[in-house]
Amino acid sequence: MIKEIIDKEIIARLKQMLEDANRIVVTCHRSPDGDAMGSSLALKHILINADKHVDIITPDMPPKSLTFMPGVNRIFHFSTNEQISRDLISRADLIFCLDFNTPSRLDRMGEYIASARAHKVMIDHHINPSDFCDITISFPELSSTSELVYRTVCELGWHHYITREAAQCFYVGMMTDTGNFTFSSEYPEIYLIVADLLTYNINKVHLYDCAMNTFSEAAVRLQGYALSQKMELFPDVQVARIVLTADELTQFGYKKGDTEGLVNKPLAIPQVTMSFFFRQDADCIKVSTRSQGDRSVEEICHRFFNGGGHKNASGGEFYGSLEQVDEIFNTILDYLKQEKI
Ligand code: 5GP
Ligand code: MN
Repeated sequence: MIKEIIDKEIIARLKQMLEDANRIVVTCHRSPDGDAMGSSLALKHILINADKHVDIITPDMPPKSLTFMPGVNRIFHFSTNEQISRDLISRADLIFCLDFNTPSRLDRMGEYIASARAHKVMIDHHINPSDFCDITISFPELSSTSELVYRTVCELGWHHYITREAAQCFYVGMMTDTGNFTFSSEYPEIYLIVADLLTYNINKVHLYDCAMNTFSEAAVRLQGYALSQKMELFPDVQVARIVLTADELTQFGYKKGDTEGLVNKPLAIPQVTMSFFFRQDADCIKVSTRSQGDRSVEEICHRFFNGGGHKNASGGEFYGSLEQVDEIFNTILDYLKQEKI
């Protein structure tokens, strides 16, 4: 039996909001990953099964690697369908904010969500949630937003609305946010949830292959190049860094999603416990960081890049040149030496 963790009064309020809602919008963070898409799609499948009218709006397109997920082709993208998205947001009476803790994670769409007249419900596992929702269900200690949405559905007494499609989406979210159940998955109850999801006859090997182990030839070559030619080690602080410039990305025909998982690779080296990846995208330099044990990349991303995430997996965006990022990185190295983080 899985313990109930959400305040009973919050569950009662959410139940009432759901009963009263005629038009529901579900949204998640920009550049949605497996957990953002998994939790959003699972919730939509369940709410549709409960006879609700639901639309998912994402700030931008999900990566091609997630197009296998059931229901993904019926999503609106704010970046390419702005007018429709704004209409749906303004007409909604209930908005679910999944897998993000502050409206700025939605880019420009954030201002429309924050000012919408609808009731807003955040379900999320990032630390320091900001206060813009009527209900905030935040459990940073959990593996994933997908796990938390599953728990919320159960605590609402809506388990019977879970479909095979919803089970697939929950599984993908939990699997991708835990590196196929390695990190962030030490609490035994996550496996009770997985056991339940498997009763829906989902194919876990197929889902793993689709979500975590499918890359184009160009992407595999780009990752190989990044590791063999671009990885630098800083042994005195147990740090690795990879920088990919816009020219290099063009040279390898980079597409969104092609560098997924790359930042984890240097952590295979026992002498590396913190990994930085900087990618020069069209509009900004994307920062992606991972660490092991007590070392907190969340603190580093928050302090130096105005970003955040989790203790061992965080990110941010830098609006400036690679030279400037290089200077900041040197400051980070000094900081790590001094503070012994
Ligand atoms: P990734 O490195 O896979 O892009 O992201 C790792 C974690 O950091 C995720 O939990 C993600 O939500 C968070 N994250 C990534 N980019 C940003 C960002 O720009 N701002 C904040 N606050 N968190 C981010
Ligand atoms: Mn997540």
